[in-house]
Parts: sequence; structure tokens; C-alpha cells
Amino acid sequence: MKTSAAAERPPAEGLVRALRQALRGAPVVAREAGFPRAWWRHLGEQGLLGLSFDLDGRGPRADWPTIARLAGGMARETGSLGLTLGWMLNEMLGRCVIGSAGNESERVRALLRRMAAGQAIVGLAVSEPDAGAHPKRLRCSARREQDAQGERWLLDGSKSHVSNGPAADVFVVLAVTADDGLRKAFDAFLVEAGTPGLALQPSAGAGLGTISAPAPAPAPAAAVLAPLQHAGLQFEACAVPAGCRLGAGGTAFDRIARPVRVVEDALLTSAVVGAMHAELDALARWLRPTQPAPALLRRLGALRLELDALQAVADQAARRLEAEGPGTGLAQFNAGSRRLLERWQAEFESLAATLDDLGDAIAALSRDIRCVLGIARSVGETRQFEAGQRMLLTEESDEVPA
Ligand SMILES: Cc1cc2nc3c(=O)[nH]c(=O)nc-3n(C[C@H](O)[C@H](O)[C@H](O)COP(=O)(O)OP(=O)(O)OC[C@H]3O[C@@H](n4cnc5c(N)ncnc54)[C@H](O)[C@@H]3O)c2cc1C
Repeated sequence: MKTSAAAERPPAEGLVRALRQALRGAPVVAREAGFPRAWWRHLGEQGLLGLSFDLDGRGPRADWPTIARLAGGMARETGSLGLTLGWMLNEMLGRCVIGSAGNESERVRALLRRMAAGQAIVGLAVSEPDAGAHPKRLRCSARREQDAQGERWLLDGSKSHVSNGPAADVFVVLAVTADDGLRKAFDAFLVEAGTPGLALQPSAGAGLGTISAPAPAPAPAAAVLAPLQHAGLQFEACAVPAGCRLGAGGTAFDRIARPVRVVEDALLTSAVVGAMHAELDALARWLRPTQPAPALLRRLGALRLELDALQAVADQAARRLEAEGPGTGLAQFNAGSRRLLERWQAEFESLAATLDDLGDAIAALSRDIRCVLGIARSVGETRQFEAGQRMLLTEESDEVPA
């Protein structure tokens, strides 16, 4: 039976093409000039933001496999993991955090519409200085208060590593709302930038380590993941209305922090594969006018072929996310994928180190990839340890007896 080319095309194809066109017609982005609002609004106007939000009750326009493909395409086309991470965060926060709290008010629906139009940027504030995102060590708190103006919450404490923090219009802030000494309960709050009692501490780097202590600013062009920037937040009796609390009380760590880590890792696999393609594209452009030795060509080709295999891994992560949700099985899969990505990147860098004067673009991409592969590193290491431990505790069903 004959099928038309259009019928064979995967549904994501139209969006992938639309994104490529929109990126080629987008305002120029300067790496050192902060997050590019005009570029962001352009994507919103082209209908390429909020694709995974359900804005009108008819379901999202893109599922996770499509979002993952688009993230990979954006990373390859722009050569910028910072822009891609910003775009992915917008999709994740809209679908998994703000749009799924179960108590969508008009305030929440309006925010989702503004995010999809490129008019509002949202940052997620979970991690804290010297605490990472470990629930036992998180301390930023919120207490309920009732006064003549009604019920409100008062936030106190610090947050760090907030991606797109300096540009954000709104933050989703996780805070401890109960602590009996054994277990903490967390709630999430929407906090507008500029709310009295909230101070922003822009960070020069991408939060490798804490950003509580102001570090000497490096040359802006050298900042990792630029033009995406990061920030710390300081709350001092910062009052937010009761209606700004997202979702069922006391459940925010399990509802937001845990699943978002898994969703982000699954989508990042695709974004990183796209950035690796950009690295190889740049290397091939550099090599074209030279006469590389056969051994070098073979190493280049091997990296290219491995990327096709890694793309299949990335697609599988996104398919599992769509089918199973962000559970333990996918978290383990992500930990394995990250190891593969780290090995590929190490091989690329060892090849690049044999060549002189490759230029800043490849070095910047490599730095960004390394940084992204380091997000929540100890969560992945915990998964590796648990997998090793399980192997010794149980006889796996496919183990061949000696
Ligand atoms: C480029 C970059 C961007 C970042 N952007 C943000 C951001 O926008 N917002 C933000 O809040 N943080 C952000 N972070 C911080 C990041 O999420 C981690 O908190 C930070 O990298 C420290 O991670 P860690 O694994 O070393 O330590 P921790 O996060 O402290 O993890 C230590 C242990 O805590 C447990 N744990 C912690 N979190 C989880 C979880 N979700 N699920 C299961 N177990 C968990 C695990 O047992 C883990 O081994 C960013 C970091 C980087 C490098």
C-alpha cells in the first residue's frame, strides 16, 4: 500500500520545521547581554512557547517526545544550551508545576497565557545555599498569618541557583510549612518579582557550588550557559496572598521537586544531544578546509555515529516520560543516559584537544554541556549506588549461573 510522504511524517515534524524557521528569523542574541526578551517574545508570537500547556481544556499541542525533539533542534540550531534550558524550563513549569496544581485559579490561568505569549518568565526556586535540593537540608520557610487584610503567607530564607532568576517575573518557591523534627512538609508559592521582602542576588556563573557568597564577576562573555543567568533569592518576611499557594497543602516536595528532577533529566538528554550535534557541526566546519588524517576522520565519524545511538536513547527517555510519568524507573534510565553523555563528551574533548585554535564557540559549548551534565550530580550518583547495591542484594533474573 502506498502512503503519502505527509502521512508518514511524524506529527512533530511540522513543529520542528516551524521552530527552525522561527529561530532563523529571530532577533540576534548577544551571549553577554542577559536573557533576550525580544527573542523570547518572538518565539511566543510564533506560537512556540507553552506548547505543552493545556490553555483551553483541549490538551497540549505537543507531548513530551515532541518537546524533547524541539529542545534538541533548538540546541543544535542556536548552539546555545542556555536558551534551550530556558525554553525547556518554561514548558516544564507550565505543564508539571503551574498547570497541574489542581486548583487552577484565574491568576494561574492568566500566568500560563502570559508564559505562552512570551510575556512572563517564571523561575523555579527549590535549591538553597549549602543545601542543594535535599529535603532534610532545605530551610526556607513559610508561615500562615491572618490579619485585617485576610490570610497570607510570610516567607523567610534563601534560595540559590534559580535558572533565569535575573529575568524572571514570577517565581515558584518551595518552602517548609511544617516540621515535626522528623519530617518536613513543603508548599509551593507563586511570588511576583518585586514583592516587598524579596531581594535578588544575580549570580555570575551557573551555580556550580553555592551562590550565596558574592563571587568576583568574570568577564560576562565567559559566563557558563549565557545568555541564561542564575540568581539567588533572599526572603525576609515576604508576604504573599493565600491564593498564591499552589496545589494541596504540604505535598510540594513529592509533587514538584522530585518529579521535576526526572522530567528535566529526561528532556535534557535530548537537549544535550542537540548541543553535541552543534559541537560536531562546528568541528566539521573547522576541519573542512584542512586535510585531516584518516585516523582523525574515523574518530570524527565514530562520534557522529554514536550521536545517532544517543538520539535513540533520548527519544526513549521522552517516550517513557509520556507513557509512565516521572517515576523511579525513568530516573534510573536517566542516570544511565547521563553516563553515556559524559563519556561521549569526554571523547569529543579529547579529540578537540589535539587541534589548535578551534575558537571560542566550541569551547563555550563544551563548557555549557559539562555544566548541564553536572546539574544535581549527587542525585545521579545515588541512583548508581542503589543500582550496584541491588545487584548484590538480589539475583537478577537474567543472571547466568556460574
Ligand atoms: C545549571 C544549573 C541550573 C540549575 N537550576 C536550578 C533551578 O532553576 N532551580 C533550583 O531550585 N535549582 C537549580 N539548580 C540546582 C540543582 O537542582 C541542584 O540542587 C544542585 O545542582 C545541587 O545538586 P546535588 O545533586 O549536588 O545536591 P542535592 O540536590 O542536595 O542532592 C543531594 C541528595 O538529595 C536527594 N535529592 C535531592 N533532590 C532530589 C530529588 N529531586 N529527587 C530525589 N532525591 C533528591 C538525593 O538523595 C541526592 O543524592 C541548578 C543547578 C545547575 C548546575
